[in-house]
Amino acid sequence: MTDDKTPSARNSDSTIQVLLVDDQAIIAEGIRRMLESEKDIKLHYCSDPGKAINTAIEVNATVILQDLVMPDVDGMTLVRFYKANHATKDIPVIVLSSKEDPVIKRDAFGYGASDYLVKLPDQIELIARIRAHAKNYILQTERDAAFFALREIKKQLEASNRKLQKLSMLDGLTGIANRRHFDETINDELEKAASRQSALSLILIDIDYFKRFNDSYGHQGGDDCLIRVAKTLSSGCKNAEDLAARYGGEEFVILLPDTNEDQAHAVAERMRKAVQDLGIEHKASDVTSCVTLSMGIAALLPGEKLTAQQLIERTDKALYKAKEKGRNQSVKASSL
Ligand code: GH3
Ligand code: MG
Ligand code: MG
Repeated sequence: MTDDKTPSARNSDSTIQVLLVDDQAIIAEGIRRMLESEKDIKLHYCSDPGKAINTAIEVNATVILQDLVMPDVDGMTLVRFYKANHATKDIPVIVLSSKEDPVIKRDAFGYGASDYLVKLPDQIELIARIRAHAKNYILQTERDAAFFALREIKKQLEASNRKLQKLSMLDGLTGIANRRHFDETINDELEKAASRQSALSLILIDIDYFKRFNDSYGHQGGDDCLIRVAKTLSSGCKNAEDLAARYGGEEFVILLPDTNEDQAHAVAERMRKAVQDLGIEHKASDVTSCVTLSMGIAALLPGEKLTAQQLIERTDKALYKAKEKGRNQSVKASSL
C-alpha cells in the first residue's frame, strides 16, 4: 500500500468472488457452467461496462474476467480504469479475448491485466488461473492489511514514547520541569556557555518556614501552595531558554543562560515579589503573614570553568546566607 487509507476489507469467508464483465449473455452462461461445480467460487455477471467498476467494488471481487470487445466502451479502457481506481487497482484482471493476437495481448498486459485467455477457455485452465490469481490477490491484501496495522501500532508507540519522554521531564505535582530535566539542562548550558564564552546564572529558591505551613494548613494545603509558587516562577521566566524547575521538596531553581549575576538578581527579586504578591496566607511565618521566598544567586563568568556541582554549591551558600539574614530576600554569591 502506498497511501494512508485502510486496505479495503475482504470477505471474511474464503469464497472467490469472480466478476465477469461481458455483453454477451451466452458467454456468461458458458462461464457459469464451467464454474458451477466449484463451491468456493461465486460468479457475478455484469453486462453493462458502465457499471463494471461499481459492481467490482460492490461484490468485493477477487478476480475480474474482462471481455475486450463490448459496445460503447472498449474492454481495454476498462482494464485501465480498474488499475487507476484505488478500490480496484489490485484486483487481478483476466482478459477474455476472442483472438490470440500478440499485439492485443501486449496491450492488455501493458495496461495491467494479469492474464489473457481466448474465449471460451478450457474449463480446467480457467479454474486453475482463477484460483492462482485469487490466491495471490488474497495473500497480497492480507499482507497489506498486516503492514497497515503494524504501521498504525508503530505510530501509536511513537506517540506514547513522545508523551512518556515529555512526562519524564516534568514534576508530577507542579507540572514544571523536574530535577532530572534540570540536571541535564544545567550540564548542556554549562557546555554552551563555555563554547560561547557567555555567562550563566543560577537562582536557588526555598520557601520560608514551609514545614510550619504544612503544619498549619495540612499537606494538601502545602501541595496547593507549591503548585501556585511553581506556576508563578515558571511564568515569570521571560526568555525561552530560561528554565524553572522543582529541585526537590519546597526548593526550586531557575537557570538563566547568557545572564550575569546582577541581571539574575533582578529576576530573582521580581520573582520573590511576585510570589509575595500572591498573598498566600502563612500565619505561622516569622517573616510576614504570607508565603515568602529566600533565594541564592550565583553566576558563571564568561570564560570561567565550573562544574554543575560547583555552581550549585555557590548558589546554595548564598541561599543559606539569605536564610541566616532573616529570609524573604535574595543574596548574591559574589557578596559573600
Ligand atoms: P526554612 O524557612 O528554613 O526553609 O524552613 P522550612 O520549614 O521551609 O524548611 P524545612 O527543610 O525544615 O522543611 C521543608 C518542608 O517541606 C518539610 C516537608 O514536609 C515539606 N515538603 C517537602 N516536599 C513537600 C511536598 O511535596 N508537599 C508538601 N505539602 N510539603 C512538602
Ligand atoms: Mg528547604
Ligand atoms: Mg524552606
